[in-house]
Amino acid sequence: MSSESSLRAVVLGTVDYGEADRVVSLFSEERGKLSTFARGARASRRRFGGALEPFTALVAQIKERGGGLPVLEGVVVERAFGAIRGDLPRIACAGYACELVRELVRDGEPHPDLFELLLGYLGHLDAVPAEPTGLRAFELGALRSAGLAPRLDACARCGAPDPEPFPRPEVRGLKPAEVRGPGPEAFFDPAQGGLLCRGCALPHQGHPSSARPASREALQALLAVQRDGWQAGPLQSEVAGEARDLMTCFLEYQMGKRLKSRRFIEEVL
Ligand SMILES: [Zn+2]
Repeated sequence: MSSESSLRAVVLGTVDYGEADRVVSLFSEERGKLSTFARGARASRRRFGGALEPFTALVAQIKERGGGLPVLEGVVVERAFGAIRGDLPRIACAGYACELVRELVRDGEPHPDLFELLLGYLGHLDAVPAEPTGLRAFELGALRSAGLAPRLDACARCGAPDPEPFPRPEVRGLKPAEVRGPGPEAFFDPAQGGLLCRGCALPHQGHPSSARPASREALQALLAVQRDGWQAGPLQSEVAGEARDLMTCFLEYQMGKRLKSRRFIEEVL
C-alpha cells in the first residue's frame, strides 16, 4: 500500500542513478533528512526542470512504496535562491551549509529549528555577499539545533563558570616574540565539549588549542543569538581566523571527518 504526502524541504544534494534517474537527498521540515527516488530526472528535464539543484527550497510530493526509497512525484519550487547561484563565495557557503546539515542529522529525525535556520541562512546569502561571520553563526546555530553546541561560557569538564585565564606565550603558530604580552587564554578541546579551565586542561592527555578571550567572546556572542546570528557585524580579522580554526576543529571532531566543501570555502571566501 502506498501513501502520498507533501513536505517542505531543501535539496541537500543529488546522486545519479542508472541511465535516467536520480536519488535526491532532502532536508524536510516534517521528516528531517530523507532520500527520495526521482524517476526520469536525468533523462528528461520536463518533470523537475532545474528544481533539483542543491539548496533549492521546494514543496515535494512524495509517495511511499512498500520497500525502497519514497518516490519524488513532483515538486513546486518555493525559492531558487538565484543570487547565490551567480556568485562563487555564496555557492561555497550554501553548499557547505547543506553538507553540514547532511552530516549533523540522521535520516528521519525532524529538526524544525535547523530547517528554519538553513532557510534563513540561504535567504541571507541570497540577499548579501558571503562573509565568514555568517558562516560561524550558521555553524554554531546548526550545532545548537542538533544538540551539539560547544560549551563556551564555562569549563566543559568541571563547569567552573569562566575558565581561568592562563597566560601562555607560545600561542599556536606564533613565536613568543611575536606575541604581544602573555594574553590570558583558556583551552579549547573538542573531545571535552568546549572550553577547559587550567585545572582541567593541565592533567588532560588530549591536545587542547589555546583560545584567546576575544575569540571565545565572539563565538559566545554568536552562539547566544537564537536566530539570525549572521546579522552580527563582521569579526575582526585576528579574531576571525582563530574563531574559524576553533569551529573547524570542533566540527571535524563531532563528525569524525572533514567536510568535502571545506576546501572550496577556503579557496573562495
Ligand atoms: Zn574545569
